Amino acid sequence: MSETSYPKVCGSELGYAGPKVHIIVLGNDECFQRGRILHELYHILGFPHEQNRSDRDKYVVVNWKNLLPGIELNFRKFKGRYMDVGPYDYYSLMHYSLYAMANDRKVRTLTPTTKNVDESRIGQRKDFSPIDLQKINTFYKCEKKTQPSSKKMYQTTISQKLKSGMNKKMQEPIDGVISVQGNSKLFKK
Ligand SMILES: [Zn+2]
Repeated sequence: MSETSYPKVCGSELGYAGPKVHIIVLGNDECFQRGRILHELYHILGFPHEQNRSDRDKYVVVNWKNLLPGIELNFRKFKGRYMDVGPYDYYSLMHYSLYAMANDRKVRTLTPTTKNVDESRIGQRKDFSPIDLQKINTFYKCEKKTQPSSKKMYQTTISQKLKSGMNKKMQEPIDGVISVQGNSKLFKK
């Protein structure tokens, strides 16, 4: 693929496929932010978007009629062992915002079903949530390596960041999975 053929979006391949080059696309200036780059790296580790989880209907309603054309893959339900790690996390670095990929930007594409959710934090691209870190540690069996000091530090940092600046209206560049990698057996759409 030549450089000019990459889309002008933030995106990445989904899943580790052994020793090969794994492609992350940072196709516009907005992609060059720490949280957005971490988001794409998380895809390489094998995790799709939070709203791709097979249990997501308990937590969000998708407004399919308002999605941008061709973006449906990022809202489909996936099944697989990556998807079964941990609880559903509204505040994940991998959760879309409530207006993500909307054709009409004034109409939501995702609506939470759970009461007492802090909607201003949904779709955050600041840092891993505590549950994001737990999922990585659990799936890759790194629990012992990260406890106790680094994990505690991360959680403190995240909570501070969530308190500051998270209420700003988030403008979200297009982000999507550009292909599913060699461990695609793990994923069933
Ligand atoms: Zn993504």
